[in-house]
Amino acid sequence: MKKLLLGLIYLSVPAVSAQKLKKPVISNSKKDFFSHQSIQLETDKIFNKLVEIRRDFHRNPELAGHEIRTQKMLKQYLIALGLEVKTDIYGYGVVGILRGGREGKKIAWRSDMDALSNDFPDPQPFKSETKGIQHGCGHDVHMAVGLGIAEVLAKNKKYLKGTVYFVFQPEEETFMGAKGMMNTNLFSKIAPDEIYGLHVTALPVGEIIVKPNEVFAYQKRIRIELKKRIIKRGDKKFNRENPYLFVPHERRK
Ligand SMILES: [Zn+2]
Repeated sequence: MKKLLLGLIYLSVPAVSAQKLKKPVISNSKKDFFSHQSIQLETDKIFNKLVEIRRDFHRNPELAGHEIRTQKMLKQYLIALGLEVKTDIYGYGVVGILRGGREGKKIAWRSDMDALSNDFPDPQPFKSETKGIQHGCGHDVHMAVGLGIAEVLAKNKKYLKGTVYFVFQPEEETFMGAKGMMNTNLFSKIAPDEIYGLHVTALPVGEIIVKPNEVFAYQKRIRIELKKRIIKRGDKKFNRENPYLFVPHERRK
């Protein structure tokens, strides 16, 4: 079997609105469609809509194995874009297939779908409406990014060389979804030459990091008991009544 190129991109989520983003100088030439500037133009057109979609996912999180509403939303969006959509692969997974107008490589883009079981404080006005469940890992952002790429490319598919598969994978937090899709029939339905994924992380806005092979592929939880009072001058959040620490990664030995 042909070895797949797996890539992962880290992305920061901009805190600014679309209006505050610097507008690029745009060429209207269709020949330039796949230039950075023309993609930026297409992206700017749907930026606010994508923010709303991400917030909708954030308000309506679903745990691994229960991504029912999430699947419905993804499916509807991809069908409306004119993609061929498959949901008979594994769990509540969704695959959208976009065939370009010209010959070329077959590329897959993967986004995860499920939320976490927790109640970390969330100051956002669009916070989770389901107690105990939260998109604390950014999968809401990953799905919105996947839909955004699908829309920009679908609107210009006659210029697209090759085929793009949009793989929305359920059950990431339980480590079941990727294996489940691969062991069922994913690669009998799609045949990508390369697969890419993305995970949001804490970086300055506008920066990305690219790394081949796996990363962010495991999690461990640790319990820390704080015996002494923590005092941080000027920060009322950290006191004896609320001594939480958020430790996102454990360095593996
Ligand atoms: Zn995640």
